[in-house]
Amino acid sequence: MIIYGVKATPIATENISDSCSNCETPDSIQMILFNRYAHVFWIPFFPIGKTGTTQCLHCKQVLQKKEFTGNLRGKYEALKSGSKTPFWTFSGLALLSVLIIWGMVSSKQKDKKNAELILDPQQGDIYEIKKDYAQYTLYKVDHVDGDTAFVLLNEYETNKVSGLTGLKQKGDEAFIREPLPMLKADLKSMLEKGEILDIGRE
Ligand SMILES: [Zn+2]
Repeated sequence: MIIYGVKATPIATENISDSCSNCETPDSIQMILFNRYAHVFWIPFFPIGKTGTTQCLHCKQVLQKKEFTGNLRGKYEALKSGSKTPFWTFSGLALLSVLIIWGMVSSKQKDKKNAELILDPQQGDIYEIKKDYAQYTLYKVDHVDGDTAFVLLNEYETNKVSGLTGLKQKGDEAFIREPLPMLKADLKSMLEKGEILDIGRE
């Protein structure tokens, strides 16, 4: 469950020389400007505008922005235009951008590493294989002879990429002891076509 919502934080306060519309006390109005922001799990995500209230310091009458009349409305607009949106209300959005960039960089690094590993298969390399839609398994390099790598097929399949972790945990016994010859060039093209998803080397 994702908990999200809107919060407001006070960002400016000003005493206004107006008389209160309720108790008519002069110089008794305090205006507070709020910045509203969306939060997700209480992390401020992004700002969604400003709002304000006034309070009479004498009779405690509170007015919301929509109840402001001519003069108060003008004061509110002036206070609003003179105040900045706090940068921390963008925290979640900033964090998300960092995570997305980090994800892009690490995925590019993984691609680069796999492109190197596939050219030179080594005994014990584990290939994550996508056989078909929702059909994944593992190959393990048994030995290499010239241009050919001999791979062992895993006897299990899974319908999700995340299921491959479980297959790996089944260990060596889950690989069928019948080495299947595959040209290194074919392995390379399998990687390029996305049929080999990832390569693990101890
Ligand atoms: Zn009052």
